[in-house]
Amino acid sequence: MARFRKRKKQKAPATVLFTSEKNDEGERQSCVFAQCHLSEFSVGPIWGHGDASVKRALATLTEKCDCPAQFHQNKEQQGKRLA
Ligand SMILES: [Zn+2]
Repeated sequence: MARFRKRKKQKAPATVLFTSEKNDEGERQSCVFAQCHLSEFSVGPIWGHGDASVKRALATLTEKCDCPAQFHQNKEQQGKRLA
């Protein structure tokens, strides 16, 4: 089990997965998924492989994740980043 103390500004490690998915038009498009290490909750796809996409994925994760962290950190990357 993950153990964590509730305190302000706690950071949770997260994995950012660089991959691609079909978009609404059925075209393959680069995207990222982000997964929290504490709750294993994941969000995505967030389109794009750029820093902005990674930031948005982590922000979305923080919004939706059940863990008490107020920030998710890009601790681990998986997949091939095409930027
Ligand atoms: Zn979390």
